[in-house]
Amino acid sequence: MAPVTVRVPAKVNLQLSVGPERPDGYHELVTVFHAVSLFDEVTAAPSDELRITVEGEGAAEVPLDDGNLAMRAARLLAAEVGIDPRAHLHIRKGIPVAGGMAGGSADAAAALVACDELWHAGLPAERLHLLAAELGSDVPFALIGGTAIGTGRGERLTPALARGRYHWVFALADKGLSTPAVYRECDRLRAGQASPPVVSEALMTALRSGDPSALGRALCNDLQPAALSLRPHLRLVLEAGEEAGALGGIVSGSGPTCAFLARDEAHALDIAVALSSSGVCRTVRCAHGPVPGARMVRR
Ligand code: ATP
Repeated sequence: MAPVTVRVPAKVNLQLSVGPERPDGYHELVTVFHAVSLFDEVTAAPSDELRITVEGEGAAEVPLDDGNLAMRAARLLAAEVGIDPRAHLHIRKGIPVAGGMAGGSADAAAALVACDELWHAGLPAERLHLLAAELGSDVPFALIGGTAIGTGRGERLTPALARGRYHWVFALADKGLSTPAVYRECDRLRAGQASPPVVSEALMTALRSGDPSALGRALCNDLQPAALSLRPHLRLVLEAGEEAGALGGIVSGSGPTCAFLARDEAHALDIAVALSSSGVCRTVRCAHGPVPGARMVRR
């Protein structure tokens, strides 16, 4: 059995509308996921036992036990096909850890695809999708990538009609934000006043026309006030992106990464340079979207 390597992208939410909390503790969401070219790689190799190693930026903060979503994905897949979960999973992190870009979910999706191949399980896409939804709300999107509308907890997906390629600059922070803490802060700030979320027409029109300026104006994130409340410094990051001429700027998911939309690749580079020299963030990354979801790159 040769090792299998799967590459998987980060996501940014072009829209993240958070409805009321449901009886199961999750919030009803309407979101527009967009996969961007910051990637993790997960390699599944034969091993006598299930174990995990991690390299790359932020690797020290990534759990190596069942707290790691990739480990849970491998166990779930093995149980589904009725075999022992024997694999060495090696993760190369390119997605910021705890950055609101769903890196852990991406690794879970990649582990499902890699182990399915390593173990010759041959599960059809729909079954992999069901396992992904069991693992977490953002995992199914990491399987498909592109641009897609998510409803429910975010796990029910419909591809969005989107034209064009968009250029992004991501401002990375020193320290992550906990997603549950950001949702709690969102609930506290809104004091139970949440209306049912709906898809933004302005955003859908912008995506259909492929117009980055319109897309920049339509970006929206209900978690942004909560992320700013917990991390007031992010205001300075958003202001710096705006001053640098970004078409739109937004906190990515639950933060603290901030995403800025550029006109084209050269404009993205200008914004990246301006953000770097402003000193408001730890580092910057340029990326484009949409890109496909988890795909095998080597075997
Ligand atoms: P969310 O998907 O909740 O928005 P996020 O994108 O902000 O999360 P992740 O990089 O997924 O952030 O990490 C959130 C936490 O999940 C980390 O602090 C880490 O302890 C844990 N975690 C579990 N598995 C992984 C993984 N494979 N890579 C990174 N973090 C992981």
